[in-house]
Amino acid sequence: MSKRVLVKFSGEALAGENGFGIDSKILKFIANEIKSLVEQGNEIGIVIGGGNIVRGVSAAAGGIIKRTSGDHMGMLATVINAIAMREALESVGINVRVQSAIKMEAICETFIIGRSKRHLSKKRVVIFAAGTGNPFFTTDTAATLRAIEIESDMIIKATKVDGIYDKDPNKFSDAKLLNLLTYEEALKDDIKVMDDTAIALAKDNSLPIVVCNMFKSGNLLKILSGDLTGCSVVKN
Ligand code: UDP
Repeated sequence: MSKRVLVKFSGEALAGENGFGIDSKILKFIANEIKSLVEQGNEIGIVIGGGNIVRGVSAAAGGIIKRTSGDHMGMLATVINAIAMREALESVGINVRVQSAIKMEAICETFIIGRSKRHLSKKRVVIFAAGTGNPFFTTDTAATLRAIEIESDMIIKATKVDGIYDKDPNKFSDAKLLNLLTYEEALKDDIKVMDDTAIALAKDNSLPIVVCNMFKSGNLLKILSGDLTGCSVVKN
């Protein structure tokens, strides 16, 4: 059965080994993964972070740029990534629209939920850009908000690792992947799956969060087919 799903990619994932900017190989890889979902009739929303270009908090840390201005820069970075992803998706034959939380009509549509849903029902991928449009939020929170607004079956946080571990897998060789967590467990300090605002929003709206490895080809399709092995799920 086809699903409506919001997939969140971090901006940093787009940077690849460079650690900065946009790696065209990764864009192409993601575009093909998304294509496989659309071809199965799934309705896909996407949120991409901006950490590969600028991160508000660290920009503000220099003391010159106010937090709110740094966050505005971060939100604009997500628009840059959204445009790149739109091009990549179009290059593999997918119909796609970018909707920004901040009006920039020469570049993309403004977010209007009714239009988003209409695009999705026509099997157009919708990329939600500019976060929530407000400083002091993250793109994880923006992605959760949009997932709830579009009545998504789940939010998938596509990461560089397989899911949520009981301890840092980069530091501990015996770290265990946790397959199923409650929202309360995900809110614990040592579990860094998403920021608390995003998890609380998901909890209040019973939105399942799936954390998976975006670099395993076919993984997103596997999850949408109902196979949740090898990843982590946060739900009630
Ligand atoms: N941001 C914001 N409001 C939002 C979403 C994002 O101000 O609703 C800013 C914030 O500065 C954040 C930056 O955009 O640091 C990029 O987003 P994020 O750090 O979540 O990206 P990721 O870590 O996923 O690459």
